[in-house]
Amino acid sequence: MPVRLAQPVDDSVGPFNRLSASQVNAYRSCPRLWFYEKVRRFKMPQIPVLYVGRAVEEVFCRMLMESPALLVAKAASNTLSAIPLDQKGVPSRLSEEPWPAERLLSLPATMLPSTMEDVREWAIERLKAHLPIALKTLKEEWDKNERKAGSWDSVNSDYCLEMCVNGLDMHLQEVQRCLDANGGPQLSEWRSGQRPEWPAPDARRYALSDAHPLASVGNVTIVEAWEIARPWFVDPNAGKFAMNAVHPEHWFQGEYDLVYRWNNDVRIVDLKASVGKGDRSGNYIEQLRMYAMLWWVTHGKEETVDGLEIWYLGANSVKSIACPTIEEMTNMELELENLWSQLRETTPDIEQCPPEPAPVRGFDAGGIPTDAPNEVRCDRCDWATICPGGEGSDDLPEGGNIQLPGTPTPIDLAPLGSINPRKTIVAEVFSVMGMREARRPQVTLSQGSHFAKVVFMVDSHEDGTPSWPEKLSKGDIVCLQNIIPTANWKGEVELKVDPHGKMILDDSGEPVSDLIDFRARWNVTGKVVYKFEKRGTGRNGKEWHRKGVMLLDATGAMKVEGWANDWGPQYDLAETGDTVVVANIGIDAWAVEVRGNISRNSKIHITQRA
Ligand code: SF4
Repeated sequence: MPVRLAQPVDDSVGPFNRLSASQVNAYRSCPRLWFYEKVRRFKMPQIPVLYVGRAVEEVFCRMLMESPALLVAKAASNTLSAIPLDQKGVPSRLSEEPWPAERLLSLPATMLPSTMEDVREWAIERLKAHLPIALKTLKEEWDKNERKAGSWDSVNSDYCLEMCVNGLDMHLQEVQRCLDANGGPQLSEWRSGQRPEWPAPDARRYALSDAHPLASVGNVTIVEAWEIARPWFVDPNAGKFAMNAVHPEHWFQGEYDLVYRWNNDVRIVDLKASVGKGDRSGNYIEQLRMYAMLWWVTHGKEETVDGLEIWYLGANSVKSIACPTIEEMTNMELELENLWSQLRETTPDIEQCPPEPAPVRGFDAGGIPTDAPNEVRCDRCDWATICPGGEGSDDLPEGGNIQLPGTPTPIDLAPLGSINPRKTIVAEVFSVMGMREARRPQVTLSQGSHFAKVVFMVDSHEDGTPSWPEKLSKGDIVCLQNIIPTANWKGEVELKVDPHGKMILDDSGEPVSDLIDFRARWNVTGKVVYKFEKRGTGRNGKEWHRKGVMLLDATGAMKVEGWANDWGPQYDLAETGDTVVVANIGIDAWAVEVRGNISRNSKIHITQRA
């Protein structure tokens, strides 16, 4: 099974605390780098090439999902995209309506491909149909990203198409092998409509009620070979990270790119929209070895993979990786479980994650090992300005108090790690609207002359239960657990319910708590790790512009952001590595991330230059 979903009843780890191959690789390349990115949640600059990789993979998978027996070469890109999904973004097992491919009749025999070259031409047209749409969508996503860097002009759509076609040619070799093997050992099962528990995505339901509609008789046809050789991959319509294989003890997970299994051999392929030069190619080898271990463990340690490959689409080359032995996988599982305990079971502090980068490895195009370059990892690291491995230091601010110029008294500065934005509140419902309609209810709570609005930002808690009670009426006493109280720009109290909070009916007799008893304004200090900004146009046609800064102190890190006009000139002067004070900010949060919000009454002041 290429997918093994988490089992909520046994899952004491939770989706945010699992280890992944990329985390393991980040930690091994430098423990401090891992700490900055996974604990302090620094986000590296988002350059277009990161989005190109996703676009190429999506386009390739959308083409794989289609069939030359159902779609003409010029068919619309979205013909198969209306896949029903469950609440977690997994293609639904319960939907009874026909799926998109089931609504299409097979093309007449005269329109079916009769040679592999026909299939290739059809598939290239399909890639061309999907690529501009995927690139446009990802450019929009990149544009919105506050950490966007570089220029989208560097994206060459012809090169993207070339990489997709390289992937297609690698896949067609598999189709040819299937054809040469007369469909392989699963031909008659496939023809009769039998499908594995997780079939390769083809826009049909998990189980077919009858023989496969594209089944033929006699020797396998080209169309059948295309269908049978199709690997499993993440349905491009599925939710993000919905299709993971999760370790039975829930501490590790991975999402395979392609899993070929038509000839009963299991081969895991990782797609890379790059030429494979440089240090990262070493990570890909480790990633695939971890996937081999994951496959073995999620199959009761009774089934091993038969092949591991990296497809470097930029270099048009396939790199085979030796599969680890059972002994190696046993040791790897133990080692990774220990690493999970060290990194995720409890969160290590900065001293436990020293700035000790691993040597840089050398790889040439196609992931071919070569001499290591004469450089150290810190030379190219995004965090070198603040890290002791580069020009920075661990001498970080930690709260205290300060008198800012132009202010009459000193102000206290909260250490970033000490700020708790959450509270549990018991209160009475004053009004409730929208409970019967299928949307988030609008609830107001009251207490004497004080009112607070409840803002449901999600429909369900991270444990899967609903964010609000099934029935709710005026006068009910409710407990808002772990919610985020904030004051909006008009000074009104808003109680935000995110995936870590929820509202339940309260019959415990607990006294009603004070609705306005929370700290609304804070002062903080920290080193500037980076600044960010984003712009856009609102629904009313008005342009908006927000700016922010990521701060680091000895106890934590925090993003502080607000409207561009509310930041004073000191914001523009502040540079990475400077220490700043930001006074009079509100605190907000989303899941584990705590954010500061500035307003026109906030103030930023540089207290120390880098
Ligand atoms: S600058 Fe060097 S030591 Fe610091 S996080 Fe980067 S690689 Fe690690």
